[in-house]
Amino acid sequence: MRTALIRVWREVEIDQVRKHLLVAGELTASCENCQHLGIDFFRCGQCPQCGTKFEYISVRGKDNRREELSLIGRLKENRPDLTIIDYDDVKRASGKSKAHDLLGG
Ligand SMILES: [Zn+2]
Repeated sequence: MRTALIRVWREVEIDQVRKHLLVAGELTASCENCQHLGIDFFRCGQCPQCGTKFEYISVRGKDNRREELSLIGRLKENRPDLTIIDYDDVKRASGKSKAHDLLGG
């Protein structure tokens, strides 16, 4: 069977997503909720600092698409408990919800 990775569009509560988001960098990840750094994204189920439970993971701005896909492949293998989402989507949605707040709801 031939498998491929594709992105799925889903409606979410963006603030809830950001509260439970782990952002993977080169070697370690950071907690989007409290910005704690140096988290092992292959192992950590919750933030050692703020205690939030991770449910989502993003890969932070990789220039190399192939590297990004290889990391996502490894995350899929090692972290079946986490939903992999695109960080650009999160940033875009967060900016939008912030503007929304300024407009009063
Ligand atoms: Zn945290």
